Amino acid sequence: MAGDVRQTVLDNCSYGLYIVTSHLDGRLNGQISDALMQVTAVPPRVAVSINKNELTHEFITKSRVFAVSILSKSADVRFIGLFGFRTGRDIDKLSQVQHKIGKTGCPLVTEHAVSVFEAQVRETVDLETHTAFIGDVLRGEIIEDTEVLTYAYYISEMKGKVSKHSPSYHRVIKPPAETMSGPGKYICNVCGYVYDPAVGDPDNGISPGNAFNDLPDKWVCPICGVGKNEFVKKQ
Ligand code: FE
Repeated sequence: MAGDVRQTVLDNCSYGLYIVTSHLDGRLNGQISDALMQVTAVPPRVAVSINKNELTHEFITKSRVFAVSILSKSADVRFIGLFGFRTGRDIDKLSQVQHKIGKTGCPLVTEHAVSVFEAQVRETVDLETHTAFIGDVLRGEIIEDTEVLTYAYYISEMKGKVSKHSPSYHRVIKPPAETMSGPGKYICNVCGYVYDPAVGDPDNGISPGNAFNDLPDKWVCPICGVGKNEFVKKQ
């Protein structure tokens, strides 16, 4: 079975969208994940796949604990971008969101969360690019009884992008055709968002016809939040 056919099959898997956090030596970090599932009921146990390049991977590997926030549909692309496209090696993500510290020491992100829980790692599985952490759920709580955010909703309705470190990254490597030609477009080096002057950025007060170079200096990527200096002209 060819790789692209296999991927088409896997595209039919459904996922949620989560923030997975951990801590190490007084530092906190977290990241977006869609690769999380419950694997047993008694005891309640989950598995999550984390890219080995991620700071969260290092924290979970050494601390042997992690926490999960199950996100609601109230989460916007900027909030998700903070945890999905920014690295904790450069910024303190947790300082920018509502959270509390759990009994494991992991931060529980309560902002845009339906529920949160903490887990103790009982086993790890080496998956070459990623590690699957299998954890026993220690405790958790409902934050808000509302609709959960799914991966499909994030992609189709919110027009969200996927980090190259995600296990599902290759599912969206084909960019929209309209972003592949024409002058004056600039692409975000961090998340792949393309600024098209013909479209502008109406959600952030930038009307169509505004050239990239005329954007205010304070303008940031609407997906991942980086400044204009992270953009390059699209060829
Ligand atoms: Fe970006």
